[in-house]
Amino acid sequence: MRQLYIDGEWVDADATEGIDVVSPVTGETIDTVPQASDSDVAAAVSAATRAQRELEEMTAYERADVLGEVTEYFEEHEDEIARQITEEEGKPLHESYEETEYVIESSDDYAHDAIRLFGDVVPSEHRDRFAYTQREPYGPCAVISPWNFPLEVPGGSIYSAVATANPVVFKPAEETPLTAYHIAEAFDRSSLPDGAFNLVTGDGETGASLVGNRDIRLIAFTGSSAVGQEIAKVAAERNAQCLLEMGGKDPIVVLDDADVDHAAESIVVGSNWNAGQVCCATERVIATEGVHDELVDAIVEKTEELVLGDPFEEGVDVGPMISQRIQRKAVNHLEDAVDKGATVKTGGGTDGLYFEPAVVDDVTEEMDVSSEETFGPVTPVITASSYDEAIEIANRSPYGLQAAVFTDSLERAHDAANRIKAGGVFVNETNNYWERLLPFGGYKESGSGGRYGSKWHLESMTQTKSVMMNYGGGE
Ligand code: NAD
Repeated sequence: MRQLYIDGEWVDADATEGIDVVSPVTGETIDTVPQASDSDVAAAVSAATRAQRELEEMTAYERADVLGEVTEYFEEHEDEIARQITEEEGKPLHESYEETEYVIESSDDYAHDAIRLFGDVVPSEHRDRFAYTQREPYGPCAVISPWNFPLEVPGGSIYSAVATANPVVFKPAEETPLTAYHIAEAFDRSSLPDGAFNLVTGDGETGASLVGNRDIRLIAFTGSSAVGQEIAKVAAERNAQCLLEMGGKDPIVVLDDADVDHAAESIVVGSNWNAGQVCCATERVIATEGVHDELVDAIVEKTEELVLGDPFEEGVDVGPMISQRIQRKAVNHLEDAVDKGATVKTGGGTDGLYFEPAVVDDVTEEMDVSSEETFGPVTPVITASSYDEAIEIANRSPYGLQAAVFTDSLERAHDAANRIKAGGVFVNETNNYWERLLPFGGYKESGSGGRYGSKWHLESMTQTKSVMMNYGGGE
């Protein structure tokens, strides 16, 4: 069984129970990690609490340098890490390299922004007083992450927490904890003080133990909305800060004047990247009547060109899904849609964890596939009778992460960008899109507490202190 990383050392867990890590590619157990107990979690949180002062006494430049050291490790071990991601998560190897590249490249953004986290000098009401603000850490931070991006999702929160002097206890997803060992190894070799980064592995019980620990002052959670809402309730009892990035049911709206081929290409990428297991995957296509038929034909044609297979093989576009549990939901959504009158135009068959990318037409809002997060390679198409109706359907969702609109009209593009209730709206680009310096996060049940990405992430992980100095000594 693997160890935990606590207080600058690799240690055996108190817990004797372990979790087997099963590769979705082969179905074989590839390793076993500890199911960290309450006492393991408590040890990690106290190490983080002890490290607070030393971390705060480092300059922002010194903390930014640590990100550089960690990134150097990622660069040196990129091939190993990319292969690890594919082995435990199942995404095609080229997508795992996109993930490693993103983390390596964005490290500089975090480092640059961390040394420019300015406060304000505030004009005082009095002549002999000096008033200013500064950004300060919240304190020990729990980073809890999902399985679909084992490096990128925790990476941004861990970079931000360390750069802003919040010591970290990281709990990766139970399905994909092995990439997290590379993150811990990178910090172990860096000049970060002992205790400022800790790794505990385990499932939701370990996560709940961490969230329930009163010394945790900041929780950076990425995962499902249901779990995020549970965490927010527990955190509210002691007013711990939560940065929550959660689920989605994101739409792409295609209008009659769109470039159909470009829209179809963007939809197929958006629905099928990482076998559709992405928070901002294209989960709904809303087409106006004039473009509907041509668009569906183009989506079907491009979906049928996707190569499903062993994610380590070159030329493969879609690998296995992570687990039977996640796959079952996508299968159920298709069955429910068909029962309620939808037409599966292509795909939907399964072979083990492999799921043939599917396109479903004649979808209505009563179907689960148009209202619940599917999290699989499924493209449901809904028809709207007008532009206004398309925008209304897009907004009729409890989620609001990232949306897109395809149109040739500048007026419609601006109007849709204003009216769609989501953390991001992209025009003539897939909604499953990241821009390094744009903030990433959700409206409604997709997120709260701030944004991911460079300076936005750093700001979300710090609080404002006001300082006033009466240097005249008088009234
Ligand atoms: P999940 O919510 O089941 O688990 C996420 C993490 O929370 C895991 O590490 C899990 O062990 C832990 N956890 C579970 N119960 C807990 C509890 N009670 N207290 C504390 N921690 C607990 O999600 P998942 O299945 O791993 O990931 C898929 C979900 O993540 C999807 O809904 C997807 O949309 C979302 N996601 C969102 C983003 C984003 O940036 N918005 C990014 C990736 C994934």
